[in-house]
Amino acid sequence: MSHKQYKYWILDDSPLNAEEKRLLQAHLAACGDCRKLKKGWEKSLHAIRATERKNPTPDFSVRWQAKLQQEKKRNRIVRQRVIIFSSLLLIGLALIAYVILSGSLTAFLAHMITSSTQILLFLTKGFSELASLINGVPSIVRWALGVFFIGVANMFVILLSYLVWKARKNHKEWQRAGVYAEE
Ligand SMILES: [Zn+2]
Repeated sequence: MSHKQYKYWILDDSPLNAEEKRLLQAHLAACGDCRKLKKGWEKSLHAIRATERKNPTPDFSVRWQAKLQQEKKRNRIVRQRVIIFSSLLLIGLALIAYVILSGSLTAFLAHMITSSTQILLFLTKGFSELASLINGVPSIVRWALGVFFIGVANMFVILLSYLVWKARKNHKEWQRAGVYAEE
């Protein structure tokens, strides 16, 4: 069998049968060139496999990044929940502590009712004072102020409609961009 055939066997990945293996081993024992070729080829295969392991495919890094992002998001949500939960717990504890310190629950409720009544009284008083203040100013000023406030309200409505329109337009463009990206 020719030297070339043995070289082909060395470099080919397809498995050899027992007879071919025996022939190759016999030739390798006799031929230094083929021994060198086999050794060199095995070394390069080894190097290729090592680099493949060290440099993962881009697909892998993309997947890993996505996973990392998801994990970050989940951690953030968990942290927010912990903050909300501990705030609620703190408020609850503070309320309980207040109830205990202020004597009894009935005292606490009575105090709550008194303070809410006071707040209500304060607000009512404020409104009536505001009403008398408005009545106090000359009618021409009141009229001018009314026109001014209607103008401000109109501007606000126009601004709001513009913002809504803009947001909808952006949303449509975004959806179209998504369709292009999928194509
Ligand atoms: Zn040879």
